[in-house]
Amino acid sequence: MPLRVYNTLKKDYEIFSPINESQVGIYMCGMTVQDRPHLGHMRTFLFGDVLRRYLEYKGFEITYIQNFTDIDDKIIEKSRKEGIDWRALGDKNENEYLESAQKLNIKPATYYPRATQFVEEIIEMVQLLIEKGFAYESGGSVYFEVSKFKGYGKLSGKNLEDLKESFRIESDPGKKNPFDFALWKAQKEGEPYWYSPWGKGRPGWHIECSVMSAHFLGQPFDIHMGGQDLIFPHHEDEIAQAEAAHNVQFVRYWIHSAPMLLKGEKMSKSTGLYFAAKELLEQYSPESIRLFILQKHYRSPAEYMQEYLDEAERALYRIKNFLESTPSIENGVVNENYVEKFQRFMDDDLNTPAAVSLIFDLIREGNQKLANGEIPTEEKSTLLLLLEVLGFNISNLSTKKPEVDLIKELMEVILDVRQLLRKNKHFQLADEIREKLEQLGFKIKDTKEGSVFEF
Ligand SMILES: [Zn+2]
Repeated sequence: MPLRVYNTLKKDYEIFSPINESQVGIYMCGMTVQDRPHLGHMRTFLFGDVLRRYLEYKGFEITYIQNFTDIDDKIIEKSRKEGIDWRALGDKNENEYLESAQKLNIKPATYYPRATQFVEEIIEMVQLLIEKGFAYESGGSVYFEVSKFKGYGKLSGKNLEDLKESFRIESDPGKKNPFDFALWKAQKEGEPYWYSPWGKGRPGWHIECSVMSAHFLGQPFDIHMGGQDLIFPHHEDEIAQAEAAHNVQFVRYWIHSAPMLLKGEKMSKSTGLYFAAKELLEQYSPESIRLFILQKHYRSPAEYMQEYLDEAERALYRIKNFLESTPSIENGVVNENYVEKFQRFMDDDLNTPAAVSLIFDLIREGNQKLANGEIPTEEKSTLLLLLEVLGFNISNLSTKKPEVDLIKELMEVILDVRQLLRKNKHFQLADEIREKLEQLGFKIKDTKEGSVFEF
């Protein structure tokens, strides 16, 4: 069955059909490295990973490009504030991203280009845009003239007039139209710079992605991904530059993922509402974070709550338990019915919540077989296949015992001891234990069969 994806450019679902029969090129807008990666970033990159893995499972060879924006207004500002070199700041955050991605079992990109490595090619493209009449120089900066590009607004679905109403953009005396955007920024005092035909300066943000994606994948290429917040202006501007310069379509499928929310708001460093990936990975297993993320469809905003990760951790424990209680069979036969369902869900615009639910159906059926004294080898082989395609690191499934289970087991030990005390008529001591436990919020009930507790 073919994969059907929601293409932002068409505002509709489309059957995915790559340019090349067996190869697929994917470009993912990566991080601007002024800040540390948080869970919201990782959600987007994890979906890129799942799409890639699924296409690989379907037999495609993938070239996956993910950039690092390593020069930008925000990086310069932040490095000044923190009193460190802008390169050092970028390296630090880039490394933190790479470490977190590795822990999360996100496959490394084929290449991770950095904007500063492509300044020459960027200058060439800016020159081409000036020659073709799409860009103009003003005060040492170069701007793209949006009104010259007929298709401007086709990705965000708005024309320039609508955009003026929806987005407030400060007017700038150097620009002909407030929506004109910088391809090249003149150097301000103390800022890092490169030499160009327009004087010292540095690349604008949007141009780097048009240059680097086409450098590795050609133009047009198959899939461009990123967070929904990048649709306008970043991706709209990428299209305008690339198509104006080369006169062919830039990207065939635009796939955007929804944000991670915290208390109803988009997780972001600027609002202070975020969880850094590194710290979260110290508290939770990477697989539980993957499970939590995949349990939500990539185009629906996902609210973060600690309870969800706790729940995911417990669910992983169930997976691990099942895998450990079933002997392994090499090249075991899979349950075709499940595999077919799995593909049907994934082919439907990557319906990972439904695909994940199959994991637990398999475990339920497998456990039933175990209870009947049968060995659920088919369930196990199928489960392993599904986990692998979804990117779970099977050798690293949570070994941390879920806290709730641990409390339950500890309580059972305490209640057993208490039971013994009662049996030996040490009632006062037994009552004292009960009172202390009640102070901690546990309700103890003594029954004929023994003591039970509620929390
Ligand atoms: Zn980009």
